[in-house]
Amino acid sequence: MYYTSRPMTDHITLIQSPSGEDLYLVAGSRQSALIDANMGVGQLRAFVESLTGNPLVVLLTHGHVDHAPGAAEFEEVYMNSADGELYRSHCALEARQGYLKQNLGDRYEELTAEGFVPEDPDKQFRELSDGQRFDLGGVHIQAVAFPGHTPGSMAFLVEEDRVLITGDACNNFTFLFTPGSSSVEAYCRAVIQVREKMAGKYDRIFVSHREPELPNTLLDEMIQVCREVLAGNSQEVPFAFMGIQALVAKKTDEHLRQTDGKTANLVYRADHITN
Ligand SMILES: [Zn+2]
Repeated sequence: MYYTSRPMTDHITLIQSPSGEDLYLVAGSRQSALIDANMGVGQLRAFVESLTGNPLVVLLTHGHVDHAPGAAEFEEVYMNSADGELYRSHCALEARQGYLKQNLGDRYEELTAEGFVPEDPDKQFRELSDGQRFDLGGVHIQAVAFPGHTPGSMAFLVEEDRVLITGDACNNFTFLFTPGSSSVEAYCRAVIQVREKMAGKYDRIFVSHREPELPNTLLDEMIQVCREVLAGNSQEVPFAFMGIQALVAKKTDEHLRQTDGKTANLVYRADHITN
């Protein structure tokens, strides 16, 4: 089996891929929502249908290669249209295979033997916008615009479980340096807005990579990290990724742990700090 799963709350099941992405299945009494669709590999739809008999809706946190291309397997998929252009390039089979070869190493051939879902650059998404609510029957999901990592990044509040799923929009190694990312200054404004909107509504934060749960102080910490970068007080650890030179705001060990016990971290470009 390509994916594994385990329950996180009354309504939320974590689905993990061998390349380290965290997807979430939120089950109501009438409908289930799959948050993110991974890469179009490992027969995700069949796996999800083994977990729930409910009709499915798919909600994408954003259009990146490791989150969205698997949407091709599903009919009813919501994504913010600001990520449409990113999705069209990231759904390419070549992009997915390249990413997985890098992440799966020796296990690539074995784990992808069943093949890939064909790329679907013309996929018709339903619009996903800030404040939109999904009633799954006894559990509600609210979409929250969280631009920065990508222009159309969305977080999801699972209201009854008091869980905020931030995707890649805010985590312990937030990429803010790839094409389409915003400046640190603009991102800081977005984090402040989300914190205000979500104040008092969540107790737990789930993310999309590695350890699924991070401390619920993440947004406050991230605002602090942004302010340090804007003030020129970040630790500026060099980081190279796909030919792009970036800086990490705070030093970590190889498990992304920081010496001060904090969690939020930002990877940004020195020439893209202010607007
Ligand atoms: Zn991403």
